[in-house]
Amino acid sequence: MIDLTITQALEKLKAREISATELTRAYLDRIEKYGAELNCYITVTGERALADAAAADARIAAGDALALDGIPIGMKDLFATRGIRTTAASRMLENFIPEYESTISQKFIDAGTVLLGKTNLDEFAMGTFSKTSYFGAPVNPWQLERRLTAGGSSGGATSAIASGLAIGGTGTDTGGSIRFPSAITGLVGMKPTYGLCSRWGCVAFASSLDTPGPIARTVDDAALLLNVMAGHDPKDSTSAKNPGFDACTAVEPILGDGKKLRVGIIKEFADVEISPDMKRLFDARIADLKSIGAEIVTVSIPNILDALAAYYIIAPAEASSNLARYDGMKYGLRVDGKDLIDTYKKTRAAGFGTEVQRRMIVGTAVLSSESYEVYFMQAARVRRMIADSFNTAFGQCDLILCPASAGTAMPLDSDLSPLEYYALDLFTVAMNLAGVPACSVPCGLAENGLPLGIQVVGPRFADMRVLQLAKHIEQFAGIDNRPTKVMGK
Ligand code: GLN
Repeated sequence: MIDLTITQALEKLKAREISATELTRAYLDRIEKYGAELNCYITVTGERALADAAAADARIAAGDALALDGIPIGMKDLFATRGIRTTAASRMLENFIPEYESTISQKFIDAGTVLLGKTNLDEFAMGTFSKTSYFGAPVNPWQLERRLTAGGSSGGATSAIASGLAIGGTGTDTGGSIRFPSAITGLVGMKPTYGLCSRWGCVAFASSLDTPGPIARTVDDAALLLNVMAGHDPKDSTSAKNPGFDACTAVEPILGDGKKLRVGIIKEFADVEISPDMKRLFDARIADLKSIGAEIVTVSIPNILDALAAYYIIAPAEASSNLARYDGMKYGLRVDGKDLIDTYKKTRAAGFGTEVQRRMIVGTAVLSSESYEVYFMQAARVRRMIADSFNTAFGQCDLILCPASAGTAMPLDSDLSPLEYYALDLFTVAMNLAGVPACSVPCGLAENGLPLGIQVVGPRFADMRVLQLAKHIEQFAGIDNRPTKVMGK
């Protein structure tokens, strides 16, 4: 049962061939069996899941099925869930139980989904391998014995979905945290247009970049999840009012039957070193798209190679401000010191891990009066130029393609420096700076048998068009990502 996609499961649920309770039990059994080994959930909500499933079954029986009734999902543990521990994978929030529900998780409740649990991530979503989690790193189910990373920061979600411990789920993408982990686990991960999906109730990292989005095994499934997540939210001041986003239940072809599409390739990425496998698969998929009518054009995003530097100034700056609230006074961990300042210090030293502390220091430094103009303002200008260049490029092409990563999943025990981790975000951060939608879709398997992904990037709010092109790539790549195949069990 766990090999079903969301689309297939919905059909079977509607036809009453399976029940939501059976489906949920199948996932809970599998979580029981493999959850500890994969470390993909921080909290499993078994009782809640069965109650959700029973309610879904009752609605389906009454002919009142909701959009995703009975679909068992994992929620990244960055989304506040009322009455359910929400940790952001930090010791700081280890015992935090929110009194409120995030807009995104509420939308999933309203759509009838079943909550299996809260998925693991990098602490406060800062990282690339999910290794900064206070709860330890999740593991990639592909070639499990090799203990590869499932990516980060949404690595718990990708580990769970690729292994059949959830049918789909949510992630957040500030600089690549949906797309990178999805690419290296053979999944579809969509970072929507900034402002399309509400950030309300989602633990803040860098507010001008944070973007909730769906992760699933197929493009169609990602579209179904995105339909539920998208929409204006008065509680989020950056939520788009009239996004002009067309929800759809089926992702229609954008190519074939004489349809024309100009697909852009980014000139500046041509000189970036990628693995021979990534190069081969990228070229193969481009050739496939050409064969069904895509016209390939080269576009220029002149400052795109400066995106990393700009991101690693802007993101820590915003984070240092956002995370100032964890001072031991209102909620979360508190370590008492000899006076107020000492309590702040002890609480923050004990509550935050090394990477989060590093970002607090960098962020505070670039916002200091001596550095603000030379670092923060300069980064903001680079950001503006990158956004403008994307706009110009979308005058010359309809959608853009680029790799999602340079290579396949690396071992969890790889010994990389902070800068080497940061460099892995080279292909993803520019889209966050520009606020444009980008989806990573599997493009094939490397020689070593591991999956790789291509990104489809579009103009703001062309999210569905992005998914349409992603679906063609998915069909040409034809990788088998059924969980029982991936896990070999
Ligand atoms: N790897 C990036 C970082 O560490 C992106 C994280 C994210 O998108 N949340 O900041």
